[in-house]
Amino acid sequence: MASVVIIGGGAAGCFCAAQLSALRPGWNITILEAGGRLMAKLAVTGGGRCNLTNSFEGIESLSEAYPRGDKVMRKVLGRFGWRDTCKWFEERGVRLVVQPDHCIFPASQDAMQIVHTLEDCIKSGGVQVRCGCRTKSIPEGADAVVLATGGGTAGILEGTEIELVPPVPSLFTLKVQDEGLRSLMGTVVENVTLGIAGTRFRSQGTLLVTDWGVSGPATLKLSSYAARHLSDCGYSGTLLVDWLGGGENLARQIVSELASGSRTIANSHPAQLTARLWSYLVQRAGIRENARWGELGSKGLSRLVNTLAADTFPFCGRAKFKEEFVTCGGVALREVKPDTMESRRVPGLYFAGEVLDIDAITGGFNLQAAWSTAWVVAQAISEKF
Ligand SMILES: Cc1cc2nc3c(=O)[nH]c(=O)nc-3n(C[C@H](O)[C@H](O)[C@H](O)COP(=O)(O)OP(=O)(O)OC[C@H]3O[C@@H](n4cnc5c(N)ncnc54)[C@H](O)[C@@H]3O)c2cc1C
Repeated sequence: MASVVIIGGGAAGCFCAAQLSALRPGWNITILEAGGRLMAKLAVTGGGRCNLTNSFEGIESLSEAYPRGDKVMRKVLGRFGWRDTCKWFEERGVRLVVQPDHCIFPASQDAMQIVHTLEDCIKSGGVQVRCGCRTKSIPEGADAVVLATGGGTAGILEGTEIELVPPVPSLFTLKVQDEGLRSLMGTVVENVTLGIAGTRFRSQGTLLVTDWGVSGPATLKLSSYAARHLSDCGYSGTLLVDWLGGGENLARQIVSELASGSRTIANSHPAQLTARLWSYLVQRAGIRENARWGELGSKGLSRLVNTLAADTFPFCGRAKFKEEFVTCGGVALREVKPDTMESRRVPGLYFAGEVLDIDAITGGFNLQAAWSTAWVVAQAISEKF
């Protein structure tokens, strides 16, 4: 009978405890949680609905979903992937729904159902829970210790030789100064390509204009891809916007179609842009709104195409997205054996969840990383003793 201490009672720690206690009934498993209760963050995920995983449709390369940790994720997802997550929760009575955007939620739309399911497993598995217990160093005496303390908490390892990648935030929105753009607050544009000038960071998706700048999936994705770069440059730079998402060729083609179908520029706008946004972009291109297409000339047309395909906005600062964020950085993955998630330097020490240098874009991928790594840890510990 082995004794296992799990530090951190969040998604990863609790899932690991639930799985391990089911695999090895009677083992002495303890969760040490700093907060007053288990899974406080899980309870508010997905706006209280808990986007617990994703069907990964449309993800061609795992690095699109996991800008950090894609290689380790390939391994752990191969052993416990999104279908396994669904099966695990469904077998315990949670009905799930896959949304058209491939995000998976409990049909109850209630994150507390996920929390209660894990709590029930922990209870029936005889796991001991000690809340209000902030651990400052790796406890001694247990056969295995699992570090599942979440993002930005790997400092507990200071003093060990284990390499830590400095934590920086990911998943945020950007503050744009341009008053004209901000006055379009509430505008949603599908299939935009965003980029950061002078870098190769690009993202595609829906853009939302807010009263402080830009948000929506395309912005959050960009913030994830460029998390470390943006931290290094103090969250300032130039945002590149391809409003039609298809580069200069698509913009040129759409503009020439519009020009042949209408006499005035104001009377015609690309289907994916609202009339208000179109009017703003036409003005940005230095064109009178009531001008006729015929008056534009090749220079005017080029300016319009350029504005549509390669618009630029200085940004300065970041803002939270509905309080959601994850930490980029944590325990360096070269420190960890991917088959077991055990430390290469400290035998018997395992890692699960966001404490690792693994993070993802929004859509349920972060929680999937917590479930997958925790499952691998539970499996490894159960086989070791
Ligand atoms: C508002 C919000 C919404 C989110 N929504 C989603 C979503 O819908 N889908 C998705 O995939 N991801 C979402 N995420 C990200 C997701 O919540 C995290 O990736 C996930 O919770 C990571 O799980 P974890 O167990 O590794 O860390 P956590 O859930 O952060 O748990 C770590 C636990 O360790 C405890 N702890 C820390 N230090 C110590 C210590 N020294 N001693 C003892 N205990 C300690 C903490 O109190 C905490 O309870 C969201 C994040 C936020 C902030």
